[in-house]
Amino acid sequence: MNLFSNTIASVSHTAKYEYTAHFPGTGPAGQSCSSCLMFKDVKEGTGTCKKWVQLMRSQGLKKPKAKAISGKTSSCRYYEKNENYKVSKLGVPING
Ligand code: SF4
Repeated sequence: MNLFSNTIASVSHTAKYEYTAHFPGTGPAGQSCSSCLMFKDVKEGTGTCKKWVQLMRSQGLKKPKAKAISGKTSSCRYYEKNENYKVSKLGVPING
C-alpha cells in the first residue's frame, strides 16, 4: 500500500520515499528525519517512521511493516521536533 496512491503527486513518487510519511522536503527547512520525534532509530543512521506506520494503520493495514529510511532524509510535513535529539561535536546523532 502506498500513502500517495490517491494523489496526483503519486505519479512522480518513487519507491525511495515509499516509507516516509509524506514527501521529503515538505517539512521545516534544514531539518531531517533523524531529529524528528517520529523517527525510530534502527542502526547506523537509519530508522523507521512511526508516522508512516500510524498512517498505514489509519488506511486499514493491520500490521504495516516499515522499512528503514535514512536519517538524512529531508523532513516532511509531519515533522515534529524531538527535543531530546542531540548531535556530537562531530555531527553524529546521540540518542536522546
Ligand atoms: S520527518 Fe518525521 S514524520 Fe516525516 S518522514 Fe521523517 S520521520 Fe517520518
